[in-house]
Amino acid sequence: MGVYEFKAGRRFLVRVPKGAELVGYITELIQKENIRQGEITAIGAVADAAIGFYDQETHEYHEVELTGGLEIVSLTGNISLKDGKPHLHAHAGLADHSGAMFGGHLSRATVFLTEIVIHEFLGGEAKELERVPDETTGLSCWAATQCVASQD
Ligand code: ZN
Repeated sequence: MGVYEFKAGRRFLVRVPKGAELVGYITELIQKENIRQGEITAIGAVADAAIGFYDQETHEYHEVELTGGLEIVSLTGNISLKDGKPHLHAHAGLADHSGAMFGGHLSRATVFLTEIVIHEFLGGEAKELERVPDETTGLSCWAATQCVASQD
C-alpha cells in the first residue's frame, strides 16, 4: 500500500543564518543529526530562490529564478533516505513585495531569516523509507503506489 507508520522522535527548532543556502543547510543538518525520516516546516524570508516545476509529459524539471526578496509563506517537506543518506524533499510558496505568490519544488534559496521546525520519525517495526527510481514518473520515489517527486 505504501503506507508507513512511525513513532515520534526528536524535535528541532532551527534558526538558519543569514546568507546560508537553505536546501544545502537543511541537508547538512539532517545528515549530521542522522534524521533518517521526518517532516519539516519553515517560515521566514529569503533573498532569492529557485523553484522547480516537473513537466509530467516530458519528465523534465523547469526552474524559475526568483529575486528581490521573498516571504516564505509556507515551506513543507519530508525527509527520507536516498542512496543511504538522509534526503530533503521540500516545496515552498514564496510571496513577492506585492503579495503575489510563486510556488513549487524548492531547489535552492538564499536565507534572509528562516525558522525551521523538524519532527523526526522513528522506525519501530515499520520499514525505513528509501527513495528509488520510478519508471512511471521518471522520479525518485518511496514506493510504486505512493510517489513523491524528488529532483535529484
Ligand atoms: Zn518536489
